[in-house]
Amino acid sequence: MSSDKIERLRKDIVRGAQKIYARGINEDGEGNTSARINKTEILVTPSSTNYDQLVPEKMVHMDLDGNVFSKGVMPSTEVKMHLGVYRDRPKVGSIIHTHSPYVTMLSVLRKGIPILMEQQIIFLGGEIHCTDITKAHTDEMGTSAINALGINNAAILANHGAIVCGKSVDHAVRFAVFLEKIAKIYWGALQVGETVFTIPEENFEEHEKLFNTLFACYPRRLKKK
Ligand SMILES: [Zn+2]
Repeated sequence: MSSDKIERLRKDIVRGAQKIYARGINEDGEGNTSARINKTEILVTPSSTNYDQLVPEKMVHMDLDGNVFSKGVMPSTEVKMHLGVYRDRPKVGSIIHTHSPYVTMLSVLRKGIPILMEQQIIFLGGEIHCTDITKAHTDEMGTSAINALGINNAAILANHGAIVCGKSVDHAVRFAVFLEKIAKIYWGALQVGETVFTIPEENFEEHEKLFNTLFACYPRRLKKK
């Protein structure tokens, strides 16, 4: 990838991370946004991010084995989870990790999100699953996230938050915003009704096609036969 493209990617990450911050999805010092440069290298927001002060030069350039090439900036230790997902999923172009309030409320209940809206299938792939509890900042968390992702673009991380992936930073931002919205809808619905009704299965096919054509980034081995 040319240096021009890397510079563009640095700006994309800053813009994406600041958008997530502006929506209240991550506070200062929490969450991370990354983007793939090529098969083996990524850029990621630095440790203890102050979102207002993010600039393209501060994005940390590193490889998927965890070697850092940038000087004077360190990635968050949570980057191990990003690296695990990038290694497992070649089509993933960007990952956003959040501690957004509604998703995190569901995460402490260890609840996923059933299919409540058709958009959920198109953007995220379907029912969202919650991981088993793991220690933050470990490789194990990456493995647990990969298992909970399945074919989806998002998963809830037990007692922690969410991981969202997409083919581009713009996709990942859009999905992180949508995930928080659907978590809020689910949380609200659970407060007022006894039964949460889900979308009937016969409506899935058309939306799954759109997901697979436009947004899916799971590995080929998981493709439904
Ligand atoms: Zn976290």
